[in-house]
Amino acid sequence: MPELPEVETVKRTLNELVTDKTIAAVTVSLPRIIQRPAEPEQFAGALAGRTIRTVERRGKFLRLILDGLVLVSHLRMEGRYGLYRTGEPVDKHTHVIFHFQDGTELRYKDVRQFGTMHLFEPGEDLMLPPLNKLGLEPLEEEFTPEALRGRLKGKTSKMKPLLLNQSYIAGLGNIYVDEALFQAGIHPEAGVDELKPSDWKKLYASIRSTLERAVEAGGSSVKSYVNGQGDAGSFQHELLVYGRKNEPCRSCGTLITKSVVGGRGTHVCLQCQPLPHSLRIASKQQRLSVIK
Ligand SMILES: [Zn+2]
Repeated sequence: MPELPEVETVKRTLNELVTDKTIAAVTVSLPRIIQRPAEPEQFAGALAGRTIRTVERRGKFLRLILDGLVLVSHLRMEGRYGLYRTGEPVDKHTHVIFHFQDGTELRYKDVRQFGTMHLFEPGEDLMLPPLNKLGLEPLEEEFTPEALRGRLKGKTSKMKPLLLNQSYIAGLGNIYVDEALFQAGIHPEAGVDELKPSDWKKLYASIRSTLERAVEAGGSSVKSYVNGQGDAGSFQHELLVYGRKNEPCRSCGTLITKSVVGGRGTHVCLQCQPLPHSLRIASKQQRLSVIK
């Protein structure tokens, strides 16, 4: 699933491709992609004649800002946009086409069909689902070590599921949470109250730098992600733990392990990310009870 760096890359590409283009008509061939308004005909009718002014991002969502409307688009697993000339063959996985007045069209393809689009009046989109519950933007000024700690304080889950929760921090997913926790030297199963003040600073810095470097590289092309022009990102070559099970840690040489934390495949260097105290006791007790 595209995470913040990949969606940011799509946003930048769309800004290059479709800014100032005016929509002549919209074709929707898979109605369930359109979540708001209820009828795809209303969606298409409202967009006809509107010009795309800019494209923004909130968490993993794209916000296409038009004259008098905001289109919120989530790519979910495999959604992707591409700009074509009218008349070029249409791929069977194309579900929405924005036909522009200039003879080009923006096509939304989605093999898995999990993507969504919502249409709002300006200002309304940030007050209503799906954007209203999103947490801190990790590349904005509001994201500081104090804000990060404040948002997670008192939570009883483990660090990894907390960082994946979009209502605390928006935009992180499985790849960048594993990378950030590794860089901060924090075990994914550590509890919030097991982090020292210096850990929060390290975690803040690692989230920020991992995302910034990934944006710089155009995102990670793990599985099928490509940007709006069909180009792959290159950050997958720089990943330190994600997808590197049984490969040596680039920092200490210990083999990277993969386990399941909060239902998600999780990559850890147990040397660089030692088990938290609570788990060390638990695993010792488990061993003792096995010996008995
Ligand atoms: Zn290591």
